[in-house]
Amino acid sequence: MTYDINNIFAKILRGEVLCDKVFENGHALAFKDIQPQAPEHILVIPKGPYISFEDFSANANDDEILAFFRAVGQVARDAGIVETGYRILSNHGHDGRQEVPHFHVHVLGGRDLGGMVP
Ligand code: 5GP
Repeated sequence: MTYDINNIFAKILRGEVLCDKVFENGHALAFKDIQPQAPEHILVIPKGPYISFEDFSANANDDEILAFFRAVGQVARDAGIVETGYRILSNHGHDGRQEVPHFHVHVLGGRDLGGMVP
């Protein structure tokens, strides 16, 4: 599988599609999910062209991985959901029902999120 440069998150990174940005560092961008599943629902994406967690974990360099996971933690802190709790998740491939083929982590919080898998 090759990276689709026309996926929606690639367009957001290029500034072709608007997003509600909440955080950015050298290697990562975070913005609000367009269809929030919780009061706080933020997506964190690497700036590099990685298809999924599988691709990112295997091929990103150390700087990219460090900056990405620092961004995830900062987003949760900035959203004020550390004390009440939150969930991070990333869907990969068919069984994970990944829809957008650019690696992203969902940060969800602001309510009791219920059981881990429906
Ligand atoms: P996935 O199923 O791939 O893990 O999740 C993709 C997520 O991207 C969904 O939660 C969906 O609401 C979100 N999404 C899809 N298109 C857009 C968009 O154009 N802007 C934003 N902010 N989120 C989007």
